[in-house]
Amino acid sequence: MELLMLENFIDGRFLPCHSYIDSYDPSTGEVYCKVPDSGKEEIEAAVEAARKAFPSWSSRSPQERSQVLNRLANLLEQSLEELAQAESKDQGKTLTMARTIDIPRSVQNFRFFASSILHHTTESTQMDHLGCLHYTVRTPVGIAGLISPWNLPLYLLTWKIAPAIAAGNTVIAKPSELTSVTAWMLCKFLNKAGVPPGVVNIVFGTGPKVGEALVTHPEVPLISFTGSQPTAERITQLSAPFCKKLSLELGGKNPAIIFEDANLEDCIPATVRSSFANQGEICLCTSRIFVQRSIYNEFLKRFVEATRKWKVGIPSDPSASMGALISKAHLEKVRSYIKKARAEGAQILCGEGVDRLSLPPRNQVGYFMLPTVITDIKDESCCMKEEIFGPVTCVVPFDSEEEVIRRANNVKYGLAATVWSGHVGRIHRVAQKLQSGLVWTNCWLIRELNLPFGGMKYSGIGREGAKDSHDFFTEIKTITVKY
Ligand code: NAD
Repeated sequence: MELLMLENFIDGRFLPCHSYIDSYDPSTGEVYCKVPDSGKEEIEAAVEAARKAFPSWSSRSPQERSQVLNRLANLLEQSLEELAQAESKDQGKTLTMARTIDIPRSVQNFRFFASSILHHTTESTQMDHLGCLHYTVRTPVGIAGLISPWNLPLYLLTWKIAPAIAAGNTVIAKPSELTSVTAWMLCKFLNKAGVPPGVVNIVFGTGPKVGEALVTHPEVPLISFTGSQPTAERITQLSAPFCKKLSLELGGKNPAIIFEDANLEDCIPATVRSSFANQGEICLCTSRIFVQRSIYNEFLKRFVEATRKWKVGIPSDPSASMGALISKAHLEKVRSYIKKARAEGAQILCGEGVDRLSLPPRNQVGYFMLPTVITDIKDESCCMKEEIFGPVTCVVPFDSEEEVIRRANNVKYGLAATVWSGHVGRIHRVAQKLQSGLVWTNCWLIRELNLPFGGMKYSGIGREGAKDSHDFFTEIKTITVKY
């Protein structure tokens, strides 16, 4: 099999690298692609290109930049199927997911910011008694460093590139070394769409090598990072001496709270999806399910039945709800949590170690596992405290509203929560008290891109969205005019 060779994209050109990293197909465990193992040298070249491109790109009108973003969206949309196939092969997710979620949302990211950049206004105030007018202006920050994870590769990368360039910045993006293919494919479309050379540079490689070179480069004043909390801690330390602007979108340990008056017909399929969509590899996935005691047994029975129907299959299987996990190391990490739960005396009701996984011979060494439901587990267990980021969810009973709010908040993370109840007052009350950047009630993952997205506590710093991303990717200045 001929290996796919990726190249860095700097100053509008594809450039080879001195060394490469193996990239695996998660559904077979085979190496199928080589990713540039870039470092300081490539970051220097990208910074030079981004610096050169900044004056002209930042002085274009929002309308002109908007047109470029729209052209890019159209080109991506025309190649939706090709991109979806590539994303599914590289990440292990089902082709259906890549086709219906990842790539359409990547297209939408460019269209959304192409539109929203046209509608920002700034403030002004007057001081007539002093003969003064004050107003604010926003200017792009400069070269934006963008670092993204492997779970929603093109989706999350474009969610950063689009607002950054719409606001007039130039960017250096570093996708995850585990999923670099669709970012490399995007580069082909940048020139075609009329993105000038140097406005978007994509540099591939590992976090410790090329990621840190980007984070510590003195000419990159801003880092937008989506990934894990320990990496965010490292980035915060490394960037502190440079006083960089940071946006950190991190992990979660997201609760679903199910009250006895919830509509279980809607709640059960939605909670299966919120626990296991994308192999449980979404920062917003539910991993702690609190169920009111009066409906606990019924819920558990129906939830386990529905989970057993959540089919694991090869990514191209249209009937599969779940594909392969990202890597062997990640699969082992996820499995280790189930072992720990067992050792603590918890019960595994379905999935790993309980049911049999059936796969074609070629895929038996792929990184697959069954969706797994754990119960009889203590709130203090690592399975209830730490982000597992795989198809594993815990179900526990609760008695009162006050108690469940306290237990739901009893983790270091605060990204997303779900509340199921037919009582409108309770929904508002509970949503208000949850320490969580996002609360979905009687639904999950319905996104309004205009509104703030992000977490509190260890789930991050800052928000993304129409206004929030614009604020982050621009500097604000107050000007006073005496007339
Ligand atoms: P990760 O932190 O290991 O890596 C994320 C990115 O950072 C990758 O590109 C990686 O190469 C890079 N990186 C790693 N070490 C670095 C360093 N020292 N300096 C600079 N860059 C470095 O995270 P991951 O395993 O790729 O992704 C999973 C995590 O991302 C989970 O915790 C998940 O919850 C989180 N996530 C959060 C959101 C959100 O919006 N809040 C969305 C998706 C994923």
